[in-house]
Amino acid sequence: MAFPAWSEQHEAFREAVRRFAAEEIRPYAETWQAEGHFPDELFRKAGALGLLGVRFDPAWGGSGLDYWYTVILVEELVRGRDIGCVVGLLVQCEMATSVIHDHGTDALRREWLVPAIRGERIAALGVSEPGGGSDVASLRTSATRAGDDYVIRGSKIFISNGARADFVTLAVRTGGPGPGGVSLVVCPTDAEGFQVSRRLQKVDLHSSDTVELFFDDVRVPRTNLIGEEGRGFRYIMQAFQGERLVLAAMMNAVCRDVMEETFAYMAERRVFGQPIGSMQAWRHRMADWITRLEASEALTYRAADRLADGDPEGELAVSMAKLYGAELIRGLVLDCAQAHGGYGFMADNYVARCSRGLQNWGIGAGSSEVMREIIAKRRMPVASA
Ligand SMILES: Cc1cc2nc3c(=O)[nH]c(=O)nc-3n(C[C@H](O)[C@H](O)[C@H](O)COP(=O)(O)OP(=O)(O)OC[C@H]3O[C@@H](n4cnc5c(N)ncnc54)[C@H](O)[C@@H]3O)c2cc1C
Repeated sequence: MAFPAWSEQHEAFREAVRRFAAEEIRPYAETWQAEGHFPDELFRKAGALGLLGVRFDPAWGGSGLDYWYTVILVEELVRGRDIGCVVGLLVQCEMATSVIHDHGTDALRREWLVPAIRGERIAALGVSEPGGGSDVASLRTSATRAGDDYVIRGSKIFISNGARADFVTLAVRTGGPGPGGVSLVVCPTDAEGFQVSRRLQKVDLHSSDTVELFFDDVRVPRTNLIGEEGRGFRYIMQAFQGERLVLAAMMNAVCRDVMEETFAYMAERRVFGQPIGSMQAWRHRMADWITRLEASEALTYRAADRLADGDPEGELAVSMAKLYGAELIRGLVLDCAQAHGGYGFMADNYVARCSRGLQNWGIGAGSSEVMREIIAKRRMPVASA
């Protein structure tokens, strides 16, 4: 039996997302990347189709589906060929809102989650800081109690959707040092003292806005606390599993798209009287990538399966899938660009564009080194010094 065994319902969902990517993203992808922006309206369009709350409870406007649908959503959005835009949409539905869904009060869900699922309010996730992103337990942005409010002071960096967000799901320090002092709050971006201090220039993903934020004594009501005080680190680590699955699925989907494009080129382009795709040196090289991509997809599907089942080994499976995908995409995309010769270095060539900024895949939502730490911790005995 093929794994996964997609049902008719999966295929219908895939078809709907594929159409959305073909009609609403792909025709504009190059323009948005050149302009450094995609329209906010896209969130509303995605929301209207139910793409921004796939796993969320129907009581809040979600579709009540599982991680398999998240994988399909990602695989198909990537076909729109604007990864920056896809990152913006996925931050909204997978990264910034899941903790409100899972741990927020009903009042927070009504005010922020419901309009985010509809695409009427845009969300960002604020965890990383100028002083460090991997070591979440050491974050410094503080939220001090003042009557019925928290007063927030500090800064965040590399925040996707940060220039256009209506709210930030923000990691703050409400207690002492270490993971037990971290909490999550909803911070509206129209609060006094909230500043987008810098729009960052990236080497790729140009249509997504990535910013530095500054919080200058920003007051938010204490009712904006997500879940319990001091449990934010735990919530973030849980939410990371979904984020990492999304990244793994994205990398595989980019690899598959780039590969299909390259094989079509190799079948046509002739050198020394024969198509590149008929040369054994290239066929063997590509056979290795075909095999590794299938291995990567299998790891990702296994991770989706474990997360959907709530298996405690889910974190390990997701870490392996993300690590493997990040290693795969670097080599595969560069080889595919190489097969395009000079065209593989031209700005209007899709494969060439995918070869820019490849290191990003091994950084966002937990770097490859952090993934290795998780895998080693779970599978290796601790060596004594
Ligand atoms: C395009 C983009 C979008 C992003 N969007 C968001 C967002 O929306 N919200 C958000 O909060 N953050 C976001 N980030 C930040 C991202 O999550 C961080 O960059 C990432 O977590 C790494 O943190 P850092 O950059 O501070 O690197 P550091 O933590 O300073 O790490 C530096 C190096 O040390 C390595 N390292 C870390 N730990 C270990 C270890 N135990 N052993 C060995 N080496 C180690 C890292 O892998 C890395 O190579 C985004 C980043 C990018 C590039």
